Amino acid sequence: MTAGPSSGTPAPAHAADAGPHRAATLEQPRGDVLHFVDGELVASAGQGWLENVEPATGRPFGRIARGTAADVGDAVAAAVRVRDEWAGAPAAERAEWLDALADAIEANLEALAVAEAIDNGKPVDLARSVDVPRAVANFRFFAGAVRHRRDEAFIFDAERAADTINYVLRRPVGVAGCISPWNLPLYLLTWKIAPALAAGCPVVAKPSEVTPLTAHLLGVIAREVGLPAGVLNLVHGLGGEAGAAIVAHPDVPAISFTGGTATGRAIASVAAPMFKHLSLELGGKNPAIVFDDADLDLAIPGVTRAAFANQGQICLCGSRLLVQRGVLDRVVEGVVERARAMGCGDPLEPGTRQGALVSEAHRAKVEAAIERARAEGGEVLCGGRRPDPASLPERVRDGFFVEPTVIAGLGPTCATNTEEIFGPVVTILPFEDEDEAVAIANATDYGLAASIWTRDLDRAHRTAGRVEAGICWVNCWLLRDLRTPFGGVKASGVGREGGDEALRFFTEPTNVCLRLS
Ligand code: NAD
Repeated sequence: MTAGPSSGTPAPAHAADAGPHRAATLEQPRGDVLHFVDGELVASAGQGWLENVEPATGRPFGRIARGTAADVGDAVAAAVRVRDEWAGAPAAERAEWLDALADAIEANLEALAVAEAIDNGKPVDLARSVDVPRAVANFRFFAGAVRHRRDEAFIFDAERAADTINYVLRRPVGVAGCISPWNLPLYLLTWKIAPALAAGCPVVAKPSEVTPLTAHLLGVIAREVGLPAGVLNLVHGLGGEAGAAIVAHPDVPAISFTGGTATGRAIASVAAPMFKHLSLELGGKNPAIVFDDADLDLAIPGVTRAAFANQGQICLCGSRLLVQRGVLDRVVEGVVERARAMGCGDPLEPGTRQGALVSEAHRAKVEAAIERARAEGGEVLCGGRRPDPASLPERVRDGFFVEPTVIAGLGPTCATNTEEIFGPVVTILPFEDEDEAVAIANATDYGLAASIWTRDLDRAHRTAGRVEAGICWVNCWLLRDLRTPFGGVKASGVGREGGDEALRFFTEPTNVCLRLS
């Protein structure tokens, strides 16, 4: 290998000559989702299948290979086989492969966006403008990052003519296990795969069984591009089967996981005693804090988007809306008006702003949370139910929709305000002053993200410094610079993704202390 175009070294799988190929245009996929193992698209060793359901219609549209420990074993063996060659390839060669994957994803943006909308229920406009472009950006970003990475050196005792130098060798940690959720399927999968490959780690990834379609297509793309066999492996299937097999595999020393907090805890209990590198990006119950002095023309649309984007199924969504009493009525009125206007529609139709929830089971979970809020004494200001089927296009009348929901009247410590719902539900929490806002913001086990809306820069700085969160936005939300550290505190996770943090995670440092005289 490592199949870098400039090396001319061993030919990649399915390629007559070394180096990336131009990927063919993807067909519109509604068929079987296959593993991508050792450069081949394959069914499961055990021939098991899961059903793939389109959330907007409620109907099955394909089968998903149900991966077993045997499939994971094959994938890890393929990755181990190429591990040293991929690790030893010049960073520039690995970067070229990442750029080739980015180009191929970009060339197939439309097919991937439609696939994501079918599989996940999200509006195709969102997949077209956010999910797929971000997958492209993930590969391009880490290609650039590894090309331009800086090594560390420490010159000891500079006063005495620098006779000792410490420098840090960063070696790829080995096969990377990447496990991702269903809410931003291709976006979050590639957010892990790209830095792992860039850092020199072959990958065995398990996409969510709920939304595996674009991961399958990534396998198709990787094959078409000619990525060397074994460098990227994708095993589909259930978390407790394929996912658990990756976590427990002794030849996978790094696990990068994004998903629910309970799953993260289960994974940690297996991986930690094996001393694996562990990155856990978990759930959130994020506050959006609107102060009296906020620019409401900015804040109201901003917090509404933060509440309902992707049907509220983004870990960073502002699901608790904290509003200072002076602007409470105006903010509530503005958010409710916007939530009502969103409506639900066919994700495949342009202009749809609220698609379907990802599955029947997830809709049941969200509906149960709304019922619990009512039982706790909450007042449902809008939504709180399924849309009238007659209001929906015929194709999607059996889909898993819930109207954007705003709930008021509940205290900060009730279950509704402390447990993650992960759906189109936002609660309103009034506050008097900065201290109370911070106390409410921190009154959950989670600590992923917060947004603060104010014109007072001092107050913004102060509040950002007191809120327990890994990411704090001021007068904006979901603005992402891929160089910044990304992750949560408390039950929202351990470790950081993004930029150098991700490249470091997939490497093992060795400090070399060199005495010169
Ligand atoms: P989940 O935890 O159910 O599943 C995530 C992934 O883990 C899936 O691929 C699943 O198959 C796999 N999995 C499940 N059990 C496993 C096990 N025992 N061993 C190994 N793998 C296992 O989460 P989900 O329902 O897919 O996603 C929603 C959750 O993800 C929410 O809690 C959300 O907040 C969180 N999330 C967090 C971030 C973040 O960056 N912090 C981003 C997106 C989503």
